[in-house]
Amino acid sequence: MAPDPVGLHAQARPEKTALVDLATGRRWTYWALDEAIGKACAALDALGLRPGDRLAAIARNSADLAIALKACLRSGVIFTPLNWRLAPAELDAILADCTPTLILTDGTAVGFTPPESAGVLEVSAFTARCEAAAPAVRGPARDAGEPCVILYTSGTSGTPKGVILTPQTLFFTGVNFGVLGHVTSDSVFLAESPMFHVIGLVTSFWPPLLQGGTVLVSPGFDPATTNARLADRALGITHYFCVPQMAAALRDADGFAPENWSLKALFTGGGPNPPANIRWWLDRGVAMVDGYGMTEAGTILGMPLDPALISAHAGAVGQAGPATAIRIVDAGGRDAPDGTAGEILVKGLHVTPGYWNRPTERESAFTPDGWLRTGDIAVRDADGFVTIVDRRKDMFISGGENVYPAEVEFALTEHPGVSAAAVLGVPDTRWGEVGHAFVILEPGFAGGGDELRAHCEARLARFKVPKTFQIVNELPRTATGKIRKNRLRESLVP
Ligand code: ATP
Ligand code: MG
Repeated sequence: MAPDPVGLHAQARPEKTALVDLATGRRWTYWALDEAIGKACAALDALGLRPGDRLAAIARNSADLAIALKACLRSGVIFTPLNWRLAPAELDAILADCTPTLILTDGTAVGFTPPESAGVLEVSAFTARCEAAAPAVRGPARDAGEPCVILYTSGTSGTPKGVILTPQTLFFTGVNFGVLGHVTSDSVFLAESPMFHVIGLVTSFWPPLLQGGTVLVSPGFDPATTNARLADRALGITHYFCVPQMAAALRDADGFAPENWSLKALFTGGGPNPPANIRWWLDRGVAMVDGYGMTEAGTILGMPLDPALISAHAGAVGQAGPATAIRIVDAGGRDAPDGTAGEILVKGLHVTPGYWNRPTERESAFTPDGWLRTGDIAVRDADGFVTIVDRRKDMFISGGENVYPAEVEFALTEHPGVSAAAVLGVPDTRWGEVGHAFVILEPGFAGGGDELRAHCEARLARFKVPKTFQIVNELPRTATGKIRKNRLRESLVP
């Protein structure tokens, strides 16, 4: 297997644009990118990084960082991008876990304490070293099944876990998204989600560079700038992947002109996307294609790029990619019939071999016969389309009935006075557990809990309607906008 096809494209299409840094305007053809990766391999070697060592990155997206990533893949160094939005103590904990030899920074995060064994280098200084180097000899230094990236999970349900990715898992998740998302050598990706997240590192970089397409690297999301880029025919962006909160921000920002977009589809994933939202985009001529994935497996499922199917199955995350097998199972591990909720299990060559430094975590994350337990509850319909219901951990039982908070949250956010909502199950003497809703109101909404309760009662079975409503100004979220339910729960403790 050739896990890094840049060298191949450098021969087959040397003049094709591979990478553009939108912040600086610098661009690399496949020939130039191949050479830049070779130089970065030499620079890593000169800095003392050997196969298996970790190169941490605490920096915004840039073409230079993408080149460092590719050089790691080629030289056997393990690329470890960290979430620069974390607090210093959180970064310190992750640095102690992955023990890097070198940390690349750009000044975005300050206050963290590098482990004693780690050197620290500005990305720009690394680039200067690369440019001065002679390209190292090409060739994969390690097997396709050995670690080449450690990617930390979002930490939605607890402490972020270091997921081990290998050339093999990256290759096959690239194939999965490539097939589901119709990626070709004509594809132009806007890579804007942060590289410390699976959407940024895997989905935005692997499929296009696998196929000989083009990646436009952006340092980050700014709604008005992104709107301008998406509408810029000269850039001709065909693929843009974002989380639902980013799509919502585009709608409200200056320069929103979807009629000028050259996108094949607006790809979303990473968290729940309400059906009403998907229909809103369809009504404006944009195919919003939701997909399901996780750090442990990259892209797993995706909707077809067909507006009629998206409309008929709004809210679904589609079908398994070509590298993936899935099962939906009940609590006893038996296959659940179509239409019945169960945990989604995943198997495929794109699934992680395990977690960094956490061998016992691997045991609980996989069934004895090797299926990854995703912890997500899903339903498959008669046509084979899967809908994610909620995380298993977030479900609660009220009067003997299962309640999936995501369904209640979708119903609440359909109220025009609600800007965001999060529901938790809390103990109740009569029902065992009942819903408690945290709600952020739209400015100017004068109603309160009674109106929201009536709104829910008109849409949901009684046992799903939250018993209590708490108006809040903000909700604790991960870097990609997911609500951190564990933090919310802590806030309930007196
Ligand atoms: P942690 O594992 O640390 O709790 P996390 O699970 O949020 O964090 P990620 O790997 O970034 O970390 O996210 C994967 C999870 O995101 C999935 O397990 C699922 O719960 C959720 N998810 C991904 N895509 C979708 C989607 N389209 N709809 C609903 N949920 C989704
Ligand atoms: Mg997870």
